[in-house]
Amino acid sequence: MQFPSDDSRSRRLNQRAQRVLPGGNTRTTVFMKPYPIYAAYGKGCRVWDVDGVERIDCTNNFTAAIHGYAHPELIRAAQSQLNLGTAFGLPTLSEIELAELLVERVASVEHCRFVNSGTEAVMSAIKAARAYTGKPKIAKCEGAYHGTYDYAEVSLDSQPGAWGAEAPASIAYAAGTPQAVMDDVIVIPFNQTERAVEILRAHASELAGILVDPMPHRAGLVPADPGYMTALREVASECRALLIVDEVIAFRLGFGGAQPFWNVAADLTVFGKIIGGGFPVGAVGGRRDVMQVFDPSHGKPQLPQGGTFSANPMSMRCGLAAMRLLQPDSFQQLAALGEQMRAGISAAFRRTRLAGQTTGMGSLLKIHFTDTSITDYRSALPTAEMKQKSERLSALLLNEGVLLGSSGLMALSTPMTSGDADQIISAVERALQRLL
Ligand code: PMP
Repeated sequence: MQFPSDDSRSRRLNQRAQRVLPGGNTRTTVFMKPYPIYAAYGKGCRVWDVDGVERIDCTNNFTAAIHGYAHPELIRAAQSQLNLGTAFGLPTLSEIELAELLVERVASVEHCRFVNSGTEAVMSAIKAARAYTGKPKIAKCEGAYHGTYDYAEVSLDSQPGAWGAEAPASIAYAAGTPQAVMDDVIVIPFNQTERAVEILRAHASELAGILVDPMPHRAGLVPADPGYMTALREVASECRALLIVDEVIAFRLGFGGAQPFWNVAADLTVFGKIIGGGFPVGAVGGRRDVMQVFDPSHGKPQLPQGGTFSANPMSMRCGLAAMRLLQPDSFQQLAALGEQMRAGISAAFRRTRLAGQTTGMGSLLKIHFTDTSITDYRSALPTAEMKQKSERLSALLLNEGVLLGSSGLMALSTPMTSGDADQIISAVERALQRLL
């Protein structure tokens, strides 16, 4: 069945959804015109929609489904925990085991705590930085996405009209964000080391933490320059602020996460997505003395934190199973597939003579409809025409058997083969030809 289609079940489901969900939608990220396709089931790296159409999934639930769908080990983990109970008002062995795995794999993590989403984990890390330092402000990179905590959203989509010669302004993302939130967020440019350091130094006395994703997807999915990460590490220490590295997505880059690629050690690291094995999850981990802010063993902690479903054994058990499946060679294989895809799609752009390129690293890549060099949020910000091409591309790919979000972000999964990658590259090339 072609997309869109008048007699599609997805269309009918969306009409039904419109009656009870605003715009028929629960996640803005899956919104699609004229209607989104609805998933029926997934197996390996493929997803079938409610009309029975099969597609290779390059979205993988926004990078979370690193093993694709219905992996036998994950089914086993989920089923055995289901038989035992899904969440208790008591801690379980499973949270210790997942914490041990993170502490073993990530050099800068000595203690960690679990929550239910990356958003919550970012919020916990920001609050921990404030509690630990006694200072109020957080710095973040312009255009970088860190979930939906008010402070983390500031300047997520700042537009050229607001780009003066001065430091990037703190701009509200969501309507209703109080001015006080903007006042406590310092926005720094990504990959402009000197400028970022200068801005941070000017706020040293109020700066609690610097939040950075070393390869922010909404800011272009370009890796941070090595010097940029080193400088943020140094200036954080100099300002007695914490370096908070957001690895909610970047943790899929390597066995020890992202930090070894930049040779930096965070004070706090934020996790999510792949560490839940397909179930909701988030975690914040880091230096033992910093993580003490959560410690209730001497009375009320500086930062009390609960969460009805935090560290629930479904997420912990499946997360543990998913993480154990990921061994050093898994990351090598994923990176090789990523290279194949980046090279193949770049070649498809050259053959079709359309302006375009791919960015990314390891199992992550992003398609941009421009030939100009992308280094940060501003250079990655698509024009209306480029945005339209990205949206057209993902719609065309739906009819070429490939699922890709309109942001152009692709995340590969362990069940994908080199043959699947070739299939995706050919589908992209056919779709690009139709964009000419
Ligand atoms: N940080 C980053 C870098 C993310 O990409 C995301 C989600 N895509 C989040 C935080 C928030 O995670 P969640 O959607 O689980 O709240």
